[in-house]
Amino acid sequence: MFEEGAKLKRERGAENVFDFTLGNPDVEPPPEVLEALRRVVAANMTGSHGYMPNAGYPEVREVIAVKLRRETGLDFNAEDIFMTVGSAGACNVILKSILDPGDEVIVLVPRFSEYPFYVTNHDGRMVSVETDASFLPDPERIAAAITPRTKAIILNTPNNPTGRVYGEEVLRGIDSVLARAGHPITVISDEPYKTLVYDGRRQPEVASLIGPVAICNSWSKSQGISGERIGYLALSPRLPDRPDLRRACTFANRILGFINAPAIWQRVIAEAADATVNVAGYQHKRDVLCNALTKIGYDVTWPEGTFYIFLKTPIPDDIAFVRMLTSEGVLGVPGAGFGRGGYIRLSLTIPLEQIERSIAGFGRAFERTRA
Ligand code: PLP
Repeated sequence: MFEEGAKLKRERGAENVFDFTLGNPDVEPPPEVLEALRRVVAANMTGSHGYMPNAGYPEVREVIAVKLRRETGLDFNAEDIFMTVGSAGACNVILKSILDPGDEVIVLVPRFSEYPFYVTNHDGRMVSVETDASFLPDPERIAAAITPRTKAIILNTPNNPTGRVYGEEVLRGIDSVLARAGHPITVISDEPYKTLVYDGRRQPEVASLIGPVAICNSWSKSQGISGERIGYLALSPRLPDRPDLRRACTFANRILGFINAPAIWQRVIAEAADATVNVAGYQHKRDVLCNALTKIGYDVTWPEGTFYIFLKTPIPDDIAFVRMLTSEGVLGVPGAGFGRGGYIRLSLTIPLEQIERSIAGFGRAFERTRA
């Protein structure tokens, strides 16, 4: 898609190409984050550019533990927090730590395009389970997919690509299915969009509602700092065998090639862990685009969070439809990349003015499918 976009921009002029493909925040970090960065750099503490314990600075891990105790009501300990290279790093650290070759990891479809690689990176086997018609997990389908080899399930709410926010009832349903499994199954809760929710919603705390959770999170999306690569892995006090698991995660963080999370950004986050971008801009863009697409005739599921729209394509072949849209100067990602054909993912990380100018192209592509 990236190559295609670059080619199209050369041919038509960048101002005539509307690129909805990249999940890269287009908002600047909150001012308090940039102020904390300036303070940390100005302080220029001795040794602040060197290696540190692999799990991160102890005082930063303590800040995250306090934050999680407040948010979840669970007794998180600094020893259970590992500063990581984004949520992606955290997911890979926990998978490396728990999987034996051939172990199964349940992934709910549609799913983030990189999960299949994260699982196979560590010799796991991904078991796909479809969500229901509104993209919510179906606990009974999850139950049917559990085998003696099931080691983990990855949950991602608010969800990329669908924008769905899993509510308390769904999460409790998953908890009761896992409790019946007869052996421990780790819930990997990948939460980088946790604060990006619309219409005054709140994402319920997965770790408060489900027992054995490893939280993977970052500030990539919530603070618009995806290039700084800072996140964390947190082991819930309800996970079994924590002393062994801690040792495994510390070792995995080192040997996967990260060594440790970025030093300066650990210190910045310790000062501004709760800062988050204003979601009003994304919500307004969602409203503008969803309203316009509905008016054209598209079947639109409005996202409740993230900055994505997972749009049903007017013809079943999403790749053919992406080609049609591309020829109108509009770029989106085929749903096939997320394990669900018949949809495309549009990212709201482009300027509002471009979204407004893209609408005619969406209209023409829709008409072509009807011709
Ligand atoms: N998980 C999901 C669901 C994502 O969408 C992304 C990035 O797009 C990541 C993880 C990786 O994020 P990070 O920058 O925190 O590593």
